[in-house]
Amino acid sequence: MSYDNQNIFARILRGEIPCDKVYENEWALAFHDIAPQAPTHILVIPKGQYISMEDFSSNASDSEIVGYFRAIGAVARQAGATADGYRILANHGKNAHQEVPHLHTHIFAGRDLGGMLGRPK
Ligand code: AMP
Repeated sequence: MSYDNQNIFARILRGEIPCDKVYENEWALAFHDIAPQAPTHILVIPKGQYISMEDFSSNASDSEIVGYFRAIGAVARQAGATADGYRILANHGKNAHQEVPHLHTHIFAGRDLGGMLGRPK
């Protein structure tokens, strides 16, 4: 599977469509999820063209990986999520219901997030 540069997050990175930005560094951009599932629901995306964590962990440079993961931590701290706790989640592929084919890490916080996985339908 090759990277689709028309996916919605690629378009956000190019400034073609807006986002509610909360953080940016050289390697990452973070913005509020458009359909939040918790009081705090932020997406952190790498600026490089990576489809998923599988693609990113295999092909990104060390500085991209460090910059991206430092951004995730910084966003959680900036959101005030560290004291009461938060969850990070990155979906890869069909079984995980990945909707947007550009790597994104969800940060959920602001309420009791319950158990780790939902039950199968
Ligand atoms: P996933 O299932 O992990 O691929 O999640 C994709 C997420 O992207 C969902 O939580 C959507 O609500 C979110 N999303 C889709 N389009 C936008 C957008 N334009 N701005 C912010 N979040 C979006």
